Amino acid sequence: MRIEIATLFPEMCEAVLSESIIGRARAKGALTVNCHQIRSYTLNKHHRVDDAPFGGGMGLVMQAQPIYDCWKDVAAQSGLPMYTIYMSPKGRPLTQQIVRELAEKPRLFLLCGHYEGVDQRVLDRICDDEISIGDYVVTGGELPALILTDAVARMLDGVLPAAEAFEEESHYAGLLEYPQYTRPEVWEGEAVPPVLLSGHHKKIEQWRAAQSAEITRTRRPDLWAKWTKGE
Ligand code: SAM
Repeated sequence: MRIEIATLFPEMCEAVLSESIIGRARAKGALTVNCHQIRSYTLNKHHRVDDAPFGGGMGLVMQAQPIYDCWKDVAAQSGLPMYTIYMSPKGRPLTQQIVRELAEKPRLFLLCGHYEGVDQRVLDRICDDEISIGDYVVTGGELPALILTDAVARMLDGVLPAAEAFEEESHYAGLLEYPQYTRPEVWEGEAVPPVLLSGHHKKIEQWRAAQSAEITRTRRPDLWAKWTKGE
């Protein structure tokens, strides 16, 4: 899997993607992520990437030309087909199901907007999809692109120690995860649920399944309804 991130702030993305699990996965070649500076593709001498919106209004809009030239250049850098996503509050809300589908693609191109957004004409020309990280607005597409990259990366072979590492997690199979505990057995007078110390694997599994169901039912009735209907 290869992920191309087009941004005005590649250093911001690199800083996050060089650390921890994703940083190690990149270092050992389990995934490739390239950050591309959109500003490098401007044709004007001040390297301006934005202008005032036609029709008036607040703020600035990212221009089509540098984004389109960046996209064409990146597309030509590899023979792998590219699935292009604009990170946008107007997009479809990101879910674990979408993450799983995207993890099957050979190559993603993530466009990070800034300011008031991006000229619609280039979005219409290059985008296959628009994805939102939730019903709120952040200042730029970088954090949304990093969230999507992280969520997709952990589905790939060789990123987490084993597939079981994510298969029991919240959202993967439709439920929220059971509570987790670690040493010491008693902390500030609070003991770990005794079943977890029993060594009885079947009982532990049943306890976890019951906790998972109860937490989902009480915290997320929407997910619980889908689960009970088998959706
Ligand atoms: N004017 C836009 C609107 O009302 O839809 C919001 C622009 S926002 C300030 C700047 C950029 O941040 C967007 O172009 C997009 O790339 C990104 N962004 C903001 N909120 C987002 C979200 N919830 N999900 C994904 N991207 C988001």
